[in-house]
Amino acid sequence: MRRRPQSMLPDPSLRFDNAFVRDLPGDPLRERRVRQVEGALWSAVEPEPVAAPRMLAWSAGMAAELGLDADWMESPAGAATLAGNRLLPGMQAFASNYGGHQFGHWAGQLGDGRAIGLGEVVDAAGHRWELQLKGAGPTPYSRTADGRAVLRSSLREFLCSEAMHHLGVPTTRALSLVATGEPVVRDMFYDGHPAPEPGAVVCRVAPSFIRFGHFELPASRGDVPLLRTLVDFCIARDFPHLRGEGEALRGDWFTEVCERTAVMVAHWMRVGFVHGVMNTDNMSILGLTIDYGPYGWLDDFDPDWTPNTTDRQHRRYRFGQQPQVAYWNLGRLAGALSPLFDGPDVLQSGLRRYVEAYEEAERGTIAAKLGLSECRDEDQARMQALRGLLKQGSIDMTLFFRQLAHLDATAPSLQPFEGAFYDEAKRDAVAPALLDWLRTYAARASDDPLPAEHRKALMDASNPRYVPRNYLAQEAIDLAEAGDLSRLHALMEVMRHPYDDQPGHEAFARRRPDWARDRAGCSMLSCSS
Ligand code: AMP
Ligand code: MG
Repeated sequence: MRRRPQSMLPDPSLRFDNAFVRDLPGDPLRERRVRQVEGALWSAVEPEPVAAPRMLAWSAGMAAELGLDADWMESPAGAATLAGNRLLPGMQAFASNYGGHQFGHWAGQLGDGRAIGLGEVVDAAGHRWELQLKGAGPTPYSRTADGRAVLRSSLREFLCSEAMHHLGVPTTRALSLVATGEPVVRDMFYDGHPAPEPGAVVCRVAPSFIRFGHFELPASRGDVPLLRTLVDFCIARDFPHLRGEGEALRGDWFTEVCERTAVMVAHWMRVGFVHGVMNTDNMSILGLTIDYGPYGWLDDFDPDWTPNTTDRQHRRYRFGQQPQVAYWNLGRLAGALSPLFDGPDVLQSGLRRYVEAYEEAERGTIAAKLGLSECRDEDQARMQALRGLLKQGSIDMTLFFRQLAHLDATAPSLQPFEGAFYDEAKRDAVAPALLDWLRTYAARASDDPLPAEHRKALMDASNPRYVPRNYLAQEAIDLAEAGDLSRLHALMEVMRHPYDDQPGHEAFARRRPDWARDRAGCSMLSCSS
């Protein structure tokens, strides 16, 4: 393809409809100074330009949705725009105002301390996409921090959010990863060793960036009119399919938020994703995975594992507790919304719906992961027993489930799983019980009406071959920091089709190597980003 000289490239003509800043009250002050902002849901603030924007990677799928072409994405104008050095016509930059419960405690006003919204694109199909630059400089909500983000955490967010999308997990997305050419100083392990690291900006994209914390903040201040305005706005813009009015409409909305949250968490549990910081300011009202910080992927199956070293003591956000934490977070949201309801009944029934919806989703997951036409009660117990064996045997979650479709039902053996064990002694100890489990599973599967080809297709569509394992991301980071982006690009490409066996890319599907077990970035991550 012949490329036009970049200086002649026109900017893309995106259609903006900036409802959030148009329809919701904003902060009358136009300055960056850190402060409490009352009575307003956003503050106008422009990204702070950076020294040398350079496009490191971008998502072809996301760019296509927005109608952005490759030439522009790779042009200096594209990098400058997506680093925050210039605004396109129609963009209106702002930071939004929210609060949140962090690690179980009310934290007061938080807000977009380093994320700057650029506006809402309406694409050719009529879908709304908010654009947001993460790491674009200080805002009135930056508190004591610098408004910037380092390359390692930005690359992790960029890679994982796009991978999650392709894995079928509800998520915010990422358009681009741009290097700023400026150092950012971070104390990666909060151990008194701050060091400069390369900085970056991610352009993330979602139909809405409204979080539970956006509702909690006005509620905490007793500002019921602002709370009501935001609820009405959110229903109209982000849940336009809901009909009715008043409390009935708000009840349907809350119930849908509960359902969506349940579905999202069930997907996390299906693929082995640990969010790591499920504070209420990191919970999307649309049930999208948001704020990729010290997240991680299970290698050896362990419900007690969390990648977040900041949460090491209590492990509040460990893998196995995510369904309960989401429920607790919805309880905080319900509490915030309670001034808009006559009594507790409607909100309580929404919360009950979470429990039901989670159970329904989990049953669907069990049936799909095991390749069964339905999940019976006995299959729930079967899965529970399997989880115990996976933990006891220190077995790789992704490899085990993917290989389960290769079990010879006529002669079950451990042979398909040999690449999934992390510890020989634990393998030998669990082998008899695991073989028993495989035999009863094989009998159950043979009894199921699902034809064998359908079973494999169902399992392969639910049990990914590839997930962006922590060590894979860390290898891509190490190389990117040394100027080599080839691994990131290769990983992004593989993660576009995570359910397909991709000959030649077996290396991305292997279990975590020993060197990565206790390495920073691979198994231990802090909130420092
Ligand atoms: P997080 O733990 O990333 O969800 O962030 C919690 C809060 O801290 C949010 O209000 C963020 O905007 C803010 N924050 C995190 N890192 C920074 C930073 N480098 N500069 C400014 N604010 C930040
Ligand atoms: Mg956050």
